Amino acid sequence: MPRIDYASLAVPGIQRLQPYQPGKPVADLERELGIREAVKLASNENPLGPSPRAVVALQAACVGVHIYPDGGGNALRAALAARHGVTPAQITLGNGSNEILELVARVWLQPGRGAVFSQHAFAVYPLVVQAVGATAQVAPATAADAPQPYAHDLAAMLAMVDATTQLVFIANPNNPTGTWLTAEALTEFLQALPPHILVVMDEAYAEYVEATEYPDTTQWLEAYPNLIVTRTFSKIYGLAGLRLGYSVSSSALAELLNRARQPFNVNHLAQVAGLAALEDHAHIAASQAMNRQGLLQLAEGLEARGLRYIPSVGNFLTFDLAQEPEPVYQALLRQGVIVRPVANYGLPGFLRVSVGTTQENDRFFQALDQVLAA
Ligand SMILES: *Cc1c(COP(=O)(O)O)cnc(C)c1O
Repeated sequence: MPRIDYASLAVPGIQRLQPYQPGKPVADLERELGIREAVKLASNENPLGPSPRAVVALQAACVGVHIYPDGGGNALRAALAARHGVTPAQITLGNGSNEILELVARVWLQPGRGAVFSQHAFAVYPLVVQAVGATAQVAPATAADAPQPYAHDLAAMLAMVDATTQLVFIANPNNPTGTWLTAEALTEFLQALPPHILVVMDEAYAEYVEATEYPDTTQWLEAYPNLIVTRTFSKIYGLAGLRLGYSVSSSALAELLNRARQPFNVNHLAQVAGLAALEDHAHIAASQAMNRQGLLQLAEGLEARGLRYIPSVGNFLTFDLAQEPEPVYQALLRQGVIVRPVANYGLPGFLRVSVGTTQENDRFFQALDQVLAA
């Protein structure tokens, strides 16, 4: 057989692609170190676990997995439409909201077209843009001493828009910074943006945000038909392992996304669990309360140690270690605590820690103290 360089035959977008780096799984760390009871505060998962109602529904649904899922996801789409006061035709289900981000890129981007997003924005935006050979138009973030540091700067994002721009990605709040945008700031941006440019409003952490000026942009679709609002069941709903997300948009945009997706992109168990979790208001309220407390605990603990953090409205805090973070990250792993380095987000001195239970947050600080004292 002749030796063929298959990598050189891959399409250019894929050749340049660096794969997404997920948080380290607990099982991997425990196996590598021969330890038990490691704590993962690395992927912004819900420390309370899934909705108990979702678990019951899942158990009952297991016996039905020999049947293809409902390819239209009709029961879940109807429930989500009712939740947001839109029609089911405006809901698109995804295998995680990650899939929606990818679908949007496949439907509207190609070589020669650009997508604007912010420096330090969610890592999936550059991936989906590059994968289809389009151009990333990265706007500088707000300054380190701004009221919200390292945040989306909407004026800078608007300034990046040119004749090639077809898409804007906005994470509100953003991961890994936890920074957020007000209704007023977003309205001003949307009014100034040429209406042929689509805006993906990624609201993965919306259910955690308590600020009164934080908008629910699923209610803005009539005023701004270029909006695609994405939400997920991976965060507050505690269903990250099932992969379920969705978008709310005009039915015309949803119809285009629907053309690009796989016929059965969302599996049966995810649909059943999502439907149950959506109605589990007690679980959502408990998760919000735990997060409110946990954010405070983490913020106070970091302050007490003289560590500067980026103020966050999500379920995580990103903090400045004021030293090379990789050795600290590795040493925390040896203590059985998994956090997330964010150098790949252009935040080389920082680590991100997800809000855990009170005990898990304590465990994080105990480990951090040991590591920093060493
Ligand atoms: C976690 C996250 C998502 C959700 O990803 P899923 O694919 O739904 O699990 C989307 N956007 C941001 C900013 C996130 O942090």
